[in-house]
Amino acid sequence: MIKIQHEHLDKFAKEHYESLKGKLTGFPEDCKYSLEEVLVAKPEKLDEIAKWAKDKTVDYEFMIKKYENFTTKKKEYDAYDLAKKLNVNVCPYCNINSTYTVIKKNNKKITRPEFDHFYDKSTHPILALSFYNLIPSCHSCNSTLKGSEEFSNETHINPYSESLDKVARFELKIEDSTFYHSINGFDVKLKTEDERAKNSIKSFELDILYQNHKDIVLELIKHLAKLKRC
Ligand SMILES: [Zn+2]
Repeated sequence: MIKIQHEHLDKFAKEHYESLKGKLTGFPEDCKYSLEEVLVAKPEKLDEIAKWAKDKTVDYEFMIKKYENFTTKKKEYDAYDLAKKLNVNVCPYCNINSTYTVIKKNNKKITRPEFDHFYDKSTHPILALSFYNLIPSCHSCNSTLKGSEEFSNETHINPYSESLDKVARFELKIEDSTFYHSINGFDVKLKTEDERAKNSIKSFELDILYQNHKDIVLELIKHLAKLKRC
């Protein structure tokens, strides 16, 4: 899992709000938070809003429809434009699958990553269009692995705020003496003491997924062995 890094994220969040506010005129007036606060809320603030709106889901269900409209191709600002701005070319959850956005010069929108709702939109419709709740990700992580699993800032790592490599590291477990020329001779496992990192690794099956990339680890082992000989 990697952090989504872009120096203009806050600017993009503000533009996201400016582009969508005209379409969200039905936003309830009795909401504790303004529409702008909800749409640009940072990862820590999302938690606060989610808790406040937990028993008011009916009032915000219309936001899911608005999100669905946002994901359909159109001339004006939509999910393709957001993905293009973010320029995230590898899924932040698995750090394996590519998530390129292609928009042709004539504004023909071809492909983009899916957007995972870090806080599931059915449980937290108020956050269906919140900028920092929209994680550009691959189909496998978004739909197959995570689905509607309950995530929060307290249970999992939000790629907008943190990176897994700050709290977890790869550990090489040598199985037998063939480890320096065979992928069957070792195992790779992510090690962490951080509970949220443990949950993220489990939800996205990262340990299983990275077993398919042991060939890269083997290359590294060979490279290091060569350096040692020099
Ligand atoms: Zn992924």
